[in-house]
Amino acid sequence: LFIVFEGIDGSGKSTQLARLSDRLTAAGIPHSCHREPTDGPVGRLLRRALSKEIDLDELTLALLFAADRSEHALLVQAELAAGRTVLCDRHLLSSLAYNAPDLDGQWVHSINAPIRSRVRPDITFLFDLPVDEALTRVSSRGEGRDHYEKREVLQQVRDRYLYWADQLADPILRLDASRPIDSQTESLIQYLKDQHHM
Ligand code: C5P
Repeated sequence: LFIVFEGIDGSGKSTQLARLSDRLTAAGIPHSCHREPTDGPVGRLLRRALSKEIDLDELTLALLFAADRSEHALLVQAELAAGRTVLCDRHLLSSLAYNAPDLDGQWVHSINAPIRSRVRPDITFLFDLPVDEALTRVSSRGEGRDHYEKREVLQQVRDRYLYWADQLADPILRLDASRPIDSQTESLIQYLKDQHHM
């Protein structure tokens, strides 16, 4: 089972991933936690670009995100083949939401198409919340330096998340990320139980 967590910065997706991981451990379900950009060679390069240590243009970034995902897909395939569930913090929807402000979203989608034939999420949890709430959370934890976290940009990212969530034929569950943390965790666990995954 390949489970992806998506949402704008401050949406709480990483917290929910950690909580689901704890619950899977308690239930004795073998799994591993991944993230994109990954900790592999391309992912490390991307993180240097995101922190502005190196300067790469948007087109290069979009290609690198796809390249990182391509490498990652092989790892995910191996985990799944070994019978492990994979929880992943960000995947294709992040590219469509973040990497396409000036690029054609359809192009971003098409460079990722061959990767999707390697591996495709069984379920994507999309943590959605109003941008102002996300900004309050992000600034209270001392982040907010990078330009993606500015209000206007974040609003576009949220809009693109919602747009692409409708476009993709994948199973995507949209969760209201402004609800209490516990009730969100219960919602996603209930979903997995309903689908007989837990
Ligand atoms: O998930 P995490 O907070 O580690 O992501 C770091 C940043 O990387 C995000 O805030 C976002 O700005 C950026 N990102 C991106 N394109 C992606 C994935 C992440 O621009 N495909």
